[in-house]
Amino acid sequence: MNEKNDLKKRYKVVIMGSGPAGLTAALYTARANLEPLVFEGFEAGGQLTLTTDVENYPGFENGIMGPDLINTMRNQAERFGAKCLLSDIDSVDLSKHPFRIKSGETEVQADSFIIASGASARMLGIPSEKDLIGHGVSTCATCDGFFFKDKEIIVVGGGDSAMEEATFLTKFASKVSVIHRRDSLRASKIMQDRAFKNERIKFIWNSVVEEVLGEKGKGVTGVKLKNIETERITEMKIDGVFIAIGHNPNTKIFNGLLETDENGYIITSEGTSETNIPGVFAAGDVQDTRYKQAITAAGSGCMAAIDAEKFLEDSED
Ligand code: NAP
Repeated sequence: MNEKNDLKKRYKVVIMGSGPAGLTAALYTARANLEPLVFEGFEAGGQLTLTTDVENYPGFENGIMGPDLINTMRNQAERFGAKCLLSDIDSVDLSKHPFRIKSGETEVQADSFIIASGASARMLGIPSEKDLIGHGVSTCATCDGFFFKDKEIIVVGGGDSAMEEATFLTKFASKVSVIHRRDSLRASKIMQDRAFKNERIKFIWNSVVEEVLGEKGKGVTGVKLKNIETERITEMKIDGVFIAIGHNPNTKIFNGLLETDENGYIITSEGTSETNIPGVFAAGDVQDTRYKQAITAAGSGCMAAIDAEKFLEDSED
């Protein structure tokens, strides 16, 4: 049966996204008897489903697999009456209340709307990188650095994220090589200086990753690098690849509808999840340019749920 067949016409809370922010918002609003509807998106679970072990989410002393953490969160929210749909939201009309949310042929009305659609790490776009993500290829040093104790790794990118990740990773790895496609960095001076001073960080300039070598289960064994000036291809033995070439917030459908910063991240008023439209809230990486952790996303999902609940109460008065 089509999962959309038994939808109601109007919901008190509609949530977009099913990472830790969206599912925590679902849990809290479900426990407040608001019967939230969650559009999980086609990449249900978000970035956590791209990682294997999560060891820094409090409450799991032996760690937990990213997809298992998401499934547990979904089950917990559903236990209290959240309805989760494996569908994307295609368009929204936030110009009048109740808001209108469209997914394919289906339209629902929402008294409040929580956006937790996350951000996606930019990837290089080579097939081997996709195959080995979570198996030696990572987009998050904070999450996965620990697994590379005394190993040799590369970090791809030349911005602040790449410098920050490379510097952080020297706490674990014996050697970190930064691979950058130009001969100068985009990163801020202070982050560059910190990385240049670090003896464990080496720089390989004017180079791009052509292929990641390795096998699922066994991990990464090396990379093929291409020098873009000479076109020469060399093989480098390494144990891990960290891609740090930026993130894109998933806010395309809100272009022009909501206030965002110049990179597309939704702006929330300080210390809350409120956007510039009353009744529309944002939580997790879609509004977070700084912390980007599962636990901070979950925390901000809780904030959005409480803000939505308060908004609904105030509108009833
Ligand atoms: P970014 O500034 O956009 O830098 C991305 C880097 O990746 C650039 O060096 C770019 O090369 C490279 N790149 C992009 N696409 C690539 C590709 N397909 N193949 C190879 N290289 C590629 O992104 P970011 O470093 O994530 O920073 C985003 C924002 O967050 C910035 O405003 C940054 O200042 C901020 N941030 C701040 C901190 C901090 O202050 N602690 C930490 C992290 C991020 P080119 O240089 O050639 O374009």
